[in-house]
Amino acid sequence: MKTYTCPICGYDGLDELPYEKDTYAPSYEICSCCRFEYGYSEDHDVDLGYIVTPDEMKEAAFQLYRKQWIEDGAVVGHPESYPKEFQGNGKVKRDILIKQLKRLKLPLDNFTFLEE
Ligand SMILES: [Zn+2]
Repeated sequence: MKTYTCPICGYDGLDELPYEKDTYAPSYEICSCCRFEYGYSEDHDVDLGYIVTPDEMKEAAFQLYRKQWIEDGAVVGHPESYPKEFQGNGKVKRDILIKQLKRLKLPLDNFTFLEE
């Protein structure tokens, strides 16, 4: 079965494409890793000053959510649906997290959590 990558945490086990390519229509799936709900979290779980986050600001919403999630310790959203071997103490293992973020081609020096 084809799987898709979460644009927030880089986990590649999503069942559906988070956002349609042309319309940005969200799947409303919840990432079992970072717990972002595509189509909901960008409006409700981050505060960019919008009631409905415009499409062109979605990337900023992702960044903010990602930063908060990592700073809170990268807690696994749904441990029962996320691979056991990727978790330790309910959090995403550091090497797995780095791998996921690299998949998104993010500059890792932005994440102080990873520097220890
Ligand atoms: Zn995710």
